[in-house]
Amino acid sequence: MTPIRCLAVTSEIYPIIKTGGLADVAGAMPIALKAHDVDTRSLVPGYPDVIKTLASASVVLRLPDFFGGSVRILAGTCGDLEVLAVDAPHLFYRHGNPYTAPDGRDWPDNGMRFAALSLIAARIGQGAIPSFVPDIIHAHDWQAGLTPAYLHYTNQPRPGTVLTIHNMAYQGQFAAEMLSAFNLPPESFSIHGVEYYGAIGFLKAGVQFADRITTVSSTYAKEIQSDEGGMGLAGLLRERSGVLSGIINGIDTTVWSPETDPHIACGYNATNLTFRTVNKPALQRRFNLDPDPDAMLLGVISRLSWQKGLDLLLECIPTILDQGIQLALLGTGDANLQERFLAAAHAHPGRISAVIGYDEGLAHLIQAGSDALVVPSRFEPCGLTQLCALRYGSIPIVARVGGLEDTVVDIDDAGDDEGVGTGVKFAPGFSDHLAAALRRTNQAFQDKSQWRRLQLNGMSTNVSWDRRAGEYAALYRDILAARQQ
Ligand code: ADP
Repeated sequence: MTPIRCLAVTSEIYPIIKTGGLADVAGAMPIALKAHDVDTRSLVPGYPDVIKTLASASVVLRLPDFFGGSVRILAGTCGDLEVLAVDAPHLFYRHGNPYTAPDGRDWPDNGMRFAALSLIAARIGQGAIPSFVPDIIHAHDWQAGLTPAYLHYTNQPRPGTVLTIHNMAYQGQFAAEMLSAFNLPPESFSIHGVEYYGAIGFLKAGVQFADRITTVSSTYAKEIQSDEGGMGLAGLLRERSGVLSGIINGIDTTVWSPETDPHIACGYNATNLTFRTVNKPALQRRFNLDPDPDAMLLGVISRLSWQKGLDLLLECIPTILDQGIQLALLGTGDANLQERFLAAAHAHPGRISAVIGYDEGLAHLIQAGSDALVVPSRFEPCGLTQLCALRYGSIPIVARVGGLEDTVVDIDDAGDDEGVGTGVKFAPGFSDHLAAALRRTNQAFQDKSQWRRLQLNGMSTNVSWDRRAGEYAALYRDILAARQQ
């Protein structure tokens, strides 16, 4: 196979900077792609953590006057990842969340910041770093969405382009007046260009101009072509449906490995699952829950936002209590949801507990110590926590949407085939459906041999990147073949 050089453009990358699933994907995919002869460099903004990680990097490009300051592109590594960092202190050297100021609001210059990232990607695509001229640029989400547009309007030889949509809810819209500041030509402001409902749409631009568009599950690829799921872009996505496909995410099975996980109380695998039971009391202790081995312990690891449907779980607290279930929630986000979970924990000590914050290690302990993991999302492009749950022997209880639909097999849908069911699913958006799913799961939990079978089915599900990376590599090769015709 001819090797492919790919420039991945991403606003976050695990293990350096992460706010959600995008970072996990961006951190794992390049490594898995190596086995498919794809050599990836990841272009990321030079946030303080990135600059610190690349301390001994070399400068491969200088742009003395770029978007209001001086920019250097640094090349270095982070473990097995090859990273190109945009060292632009005026744009990116800000501590904390990559998108929001300490007051929780978006940085007012986010448009400039991510236009700069995208324009640099386009320049690299056109040969600005002679030692690495990519065949493919893989742009992730709205932050990289302008890249295919810049390549389109400069009218020079260009690499093939892929846009991956990780979440339709974040589209990056900025005022039309910013067009020239973004270095976009006047003619780009049209319905067939970057214009989007009178503004400049970064994700829209990517959808308009990328050679291929992917999203992170087949079901989500269909959902975003509906008016509701498309959130304004359904029409264009339907127009471009011939180049749109879904490729399900994997997880990094070295980071998420119950056998070697340093964050859990006791390692285990499918052949010595009894060791797993040591993690439940550890989790109960960590969350101040009653040391009750017989209560089904429900875990949640999530951003607290409307998308994730956790308000529905709050409505199910009577069911949780009636059924003798325990709840351990780790999450951060919406202040109202945070308060409501803390209040529920306060009202029901020993049964319900919430840790508000972001804690990678604790997320691992929840996967290992919980009996079931609930993901009640209203929409979910792929979802990663249910994949981790499958691998860790925690039974996923998920809404039938997006990637949740594609990655979990309901025990009742599995029919007589005992080797198939891996979890429990329910219709999204309604707390009574979720409550019924909790009751159904608790019933299965009482049957220890059925439960064990479910756990083992989940643990033998392939959630790794290997096969998925093959699909991306095949996509890249298709693009290159089509461009040679
Ligand atoms: P999204 O990207 O929409 O937030 P995903 O399920 O795709 O949702 O990915 C979420 C990732 O972030 C998972 O790796 C999950 O373990 C992690 N995560 C989410 N919230 C927290 C938290 N509060 N603490 C630690 N990890 C979290």
